[in-house]
Amino acid sequence: MSDSFGIDPIYALGVLDLLGIGGLTCGNDLVIHVVNKSALALFGTEAPQLQGQSLESIEGLQPLLEVLQQKQSPLVNEMTLFDQIYCRVRVRHLDSYYLMSINDITPFRQREETLNTALNMVAHDLKMPISAIKSYAELVATTGAVDARQSQFLNRIQQAVRTMTTLVNDLLDIAWIDSNMPLEAQVMNVASLVNMTVDSLHERAGSLGISLNATFSSNLPMVLGDANRLQRVFTNLITNAIKFSSPGSAIEVNVLEAHNHLTVSIEDSGIGIAPEHLPHIFDRFYRVNHERDIEGSGLGLAIVKAIVEKHRGRIEVRSEPGLGSTFMVILPAAKEESSA
Ligand code: ADP
Repeated sequence: MSDSFGIDPIYALGVLDLLGIGGLTCGNDLVIHVVNKSALALFGTEAPQLQGQSLESIEGLQPLLEVLQQKQSPLVNEMTLFDQIYCRVRVRHLDSYYLMSINDITPFRQREETLNTALNMVAHDLKMPISAIKSYAELVATTGAVDARQSQFLNRIQQAVRTMTTLVNDLLDIAWIDSNMPLEAQVMNVASLVNMTVDSLHERAGSLGISLNATFSSNLPMVLGDANRLQRVFTNLITNAIKFSSPGSAIEVNVLEAHNHLTVSIEDSGIGIAPEHLPHIFDRFYRVNHERDIEGSGLGLAIVKAIVEKHRGRIEVRSEPGLGSTFMVILPAAKEESSA
């Protein structure tokens, strides 16, 4: 038997086997036809235990059903089979059957998890010494008169501490995103969170001669959100707006409701972003070559996007070089409840 693409399923499974990749075919009725040797070795089972059985009746393979039900082709998904084998599964829906390739990526996953745990621990352990440096640098100024040079050195220490704190927080956010931990979400008032974030950054903007203003529409909906994570989103976006603005300019933060969604827009009239960079700014470590030496890790927007998407929201950006940028965070309103 071969399908309209001329692919013989037994041949395809044989090729996968030669490459050490697990493969199986099943009919549209979800009855398993053939399982190749690599898949049998991976599952630690014998062909008669699987062939002729319905996928639905084999507990360890049930995660495959979710992919099949999506009815798109080709489909790639990562899942755990038999409770412990972490696989990347690729499904092709051909005329009368499904062809699946099953790649065991458990070792990569384990390595990734170990790295992630190490990253998390290091970032966590750095928090205390960084905070000690910050406190002692502040204390020095209270112990007696400080001359101009000493004051300059202390400012440099404070600046370095801020950079380290941002980096550590970014690394902790990345470790959290990659760990796939769930949000600690509850129905919340995002407008007051935005208000608090704006308040906390007012001084920093003011010290650079930038005005930071916020306006809120009435009858804003509540959102199902994780306050700590969303605060990171707004802090990152407003900090960027400050970083990329010039003295004398203004940043406008607007919170409004549209189509059952809450939109928070952060508009600056700073340096803007050239069109060729726009598709990449949400990638990890992507930074535009700045004329000015502006600090940053290139992780902020990647974190913002991941957090917003975990809230089933989306982020949009409009920007023109020399005129400024507007970032919009659009979050679905929580069902039923609303606040004034
Ligand atoms: P970082 O700010 O640490 O460089 P981000 O991920 O926050 O990293 O941003 C990525 C890049 O996007 C920045 O380096 C900058 O070039 C650009 N960018 C982000 N926000 C703005 C903004 N408000 N105005 C101009 N450029 C911006």
